[in-house]
Amino acid sequence: MNIAPRINELLPAEIRDLLFLIGALADREDREVFLVGGMVRDIIMGRGTVDVDVVVNGDGPSFAAALATLTGGSIVLHDRFGTSVLILPDKRRVDVATARTETYSAAAALPDVSFTVIDYDLERRDFSVNAIAVALASGEFGEILDPFYGQADIAAGVIRVLHDGSFVDDPTRIWRAARFEQRFHFHIDQTTEKLLRAAVRGDILNQVSGTRIRNEVKALFEEREPSATVGRLQDFGVWEALVPGLHVGAEAVRIVGAIASTGETLSVWLKPDWRVFNAYLMGLAVDGSAEAARGLTQRLGLSQHSRRAVIGAVSGRRQVLSDLDKKSKASTVHRALASYSDAALVFFYAAGKEGVRGNIERFLVNRQIKSLISGRDLTRLGYRPSAIFTSVLEDVRAAQLDGVVTTVTEARSLAQHLMDSRKSNG
Ligand code: ATP
Repeated sequence: MNIAPRINELLPAEIRDLLFLIGALADREDREVFLVGGMVRDIIMGRGTVDVDVVVNGDGPSFAAALATLTGGSIVLHDRFGTSVLILPDKRRVDVATARTETYSAAAALPDVSFTVIDYDLERRDFSVNAIAVALASGEFGEILDPFYGQADIAAGVIRVLHDGSFVDDPTRIWRAARFEQRFHFHIDQTTEKLLRAAVRGDILNQVSGTRIRNEVKALFEEREPSATVGRLQDFGVWEALVPGLHVGAEAVRIVGAIASTGETLSVWLKPDWRVFNAYLMGLAVDGSAEAARGLTQRLGLSQHSRRAVIGAVSGRRQVLSDLDKKSKASTVHRALASYSDAALVFFYAAGKEGVRGNIERFLVNRQIKSLISGRDLTRLGYRPSAIFTSVLEDVRAAQLDGVVTTVTEARSLAQHLMDSRKSNG
């Protein structure tokens, strides 16, 4: 089968032209080059797609370098497996992988060397739907290679591994299976599901590094609708296998589902560097103990700062949600929320009811208001800087938020009063 017509129909002209260019370069250099991975799957499914992922036989990095020269792009990464990442002038990314040379020689006895190379490359992939290649060289542009019947699985909506040891070889495929299943509304094939569950029971997840797990969990939260995948992974027992006591129940699934839209609703008020990933982790851990939240942050190898933010929000949520579910003074709301990260505010908002939400909005709006006085005003009033400054300034700010003081003069005289009484008490 040839999908050149579909490529023409579905891909934007610049990507189509890029594929032709890659094909022409392959001709010139007398190489075999194939489009692989998600783009092939997406074209067959009739979906638009942008990530170009190609496999070249022979020396991948030199092919990538030649492509960079032709397109005016630059190589940003070149790893020890011979994979290069090329960034084009329009910021589009092209992954150029090398079909490995040892494969080449091992397979050299077979009649069609170049196709053997790509076959071997496809064999190492995760699911049949992701193990389809499309030739790009001009004589065969658009020809499909589908040794694992991926097209049939796409038509039937099935996620299927290529061999029984797949999840044991690479447990991150457990997350990928659930993610693709939910993204495309496919279903995981029965045997594949049995293998997946057996791998989870077999304690295989303990062998995966925190960084790899973190990358998978991040990819999961970058899906448009991550909550169903989160629930599916709970059904497979993945979360509890990863972190004892991490039970991801209905409330967690609901909150995870609400994080993205909450982030959008509050975006104008949030600090630009707020971490949506941490908000998702808070949602994920909401049904478990503080101990489970701690275990999750450790397992994912989060920074000390993020760990504290996640554990603090999960431990403090009951108090915050009950304190703020009623009309409260602005200063009370400020005191309840001031120590939390913006990710925690998003989490509380997603978890809370109307009352909580209104209070969080009020807190975020009030946060923009400048304080009437600062430490410099206190020194100008004749006080020597001391630890009392902080508490006095906080109390003056609280009075300002509640409308008790409204001018600089009022704020100064309250500060003076508080300084004098605290100094004489302390
Ligand atoms: P997405 O639409 O999420 O980008 P994708 O299929 O392009 O999906 P990538 O993570 O970019 O996903 O991977 C590109 C290709 O590399 C996949 O289609 C698959 O063939 C292969 N691949 C990625 N991860 C694995 C893995 N863990 N095991 C085997 N093959 C993998």
